[in-house]
Amino acid sequence: MNREALIMVCTCEMSGRVRGKGFPARELSSRMKSGVGWVPTNSMINAFSKIPATPFGTGGDLILVPDAEAEAKAEFGDGSAPEHFFLGDIRQLDGTPWECCPRNFARRALAALKEVAGVNLLSAFEHEFVYTGVESRPGESYSLDAYRRQGIFAEGFTAALRQAGAEPETFLPEYGACQYEFTVSPALGLQSADRAVIAREMARATAHRLGHRAIFSPILDPAGVGNGVHIHFSFRDAHGGSATHDPKDPFGLSPIARHFAAGLLHHMPALTAITAPSSVSYIRLRPNRWAPTVADLKRQDRGAAIRICPVIPGADVARQFNLEYRVADSAASPYLTLGALVFAGVDGIRRKLDLPSEGPPLSATLSSALDALEASAPAKEWMGAAFHNAYLVHKRGELAGLEGLDEKACCDLYAETY
Ligand code: GLU
Ligand code: MG
Repeated sequence: MNREALIMVCTCEMSGRVRGKGFPARELSSRMKSGVGWVPTNSMINAFSKIPATPFGTGGDLILVPDAEAEAKAEFGDGSAPEHFFLGDIRQLDGTPWECCPRNFARRALAALKEVAGVNLLSAFEHEFVYTGVESRPGESYSLDAYRRQGIFAEGFTAALRQAGAEPETFLPEYGACQYEFTVSPALGLQSADRAVIAREMARATAHRLGHRAIFSPILDPAGVGNGVHIHFSFRDAHGGSATHDPKDPFGLSPIARHFAAGLLHHMPALTAITAPSSVSYIRLRPNRWAPTVADLKRQDRGAAIRICPVIPGADVARQFNLEYRVADSAASPYLTLGALVFAGVDGIRRKLDLPSEGPPLSATLSSALDALEASAPAKEWMGAAFHNAYLVHKRGELAGLEGLDEKACCDLYAETY
């Protein structure tokens, strides 16, 4: 068959799904400027491709413009069409950012961090997921056998990540049934969120070519363990030096890192509505799942909301020193997660917040987290009133569609989406 190459330009909005439009690759240079058409209500398409309500109606025109810095291309060597897409920004027709563009939300947060503290964020999104190409067997957790039985998925995925510039770091069989995990190298600023989007899609793309799925839904079985997203982060000063560690602090945190973490804990009730944004996200956040249940910071404790990660003695401690935000999952757009996290941290730095002695429990449901987000004047300011309102309408509409379903039925639905 004759074939002509196409390229997609995509965004990852409130639903956490990657959506966009394609065009012939030969038109790339003009599309880099004009983008593709987009409409405000696209943002309101939820995880189940429904639009229960929208503040935007059917009106308005926007453009989704590819970012030359966020191109992903991978060939699979099996005759299938390559994965070739750009991540982009949603803009008004005059080229200015649209107020609900998730990528610009993250960009604004990173700029605020630089302005307030003079530092850049170095971060990496660590992902857990379930691969459908293996059967669950007793004793599978972390086993070489579970690694082996996923066949060539891991190699195909690693090759795709490498080609797409997402810098694969580790791949492992995780604790849960058919569960695996991967990490990619940390990146500065917005690039780490781009990498997270690209990495999830390359996992899905590889699995698809093998006739299977990589499922990133926060939890598949209400009695099982969840698929977390753990965001490792540290700060780099203007010269690239580490600005995260202070050996004199009881936790080893620099003042910037300490206030930033305090900001995260302070805003955790509202933050979870963005970083754990599905009904089933809150099934994951229950005791005995190695997932957080209270808004706390602990050293080397995988049950904490924020974990201070270990450093290998002898090596450069300050450079290795990093924190891990564990209250996130793949139902969230990495742009929204990164933006919310950074804005909350920046507020902690601005107000010189200190670490609380005890953490309050996390919200038990998305509904209560959304109430906290609605009540948060700072969150409304970070997002802007229109985005804040659209987010609440989006998620509450999605929740209303799940009424009457039990936890297993909800998990099954989300597993089909993510
Ligand atoms: N699966 C756990 C979660 O949902 C995390 C396990 C781990 O510490 O890697 O966050
Ligand atoms: Mg893990």
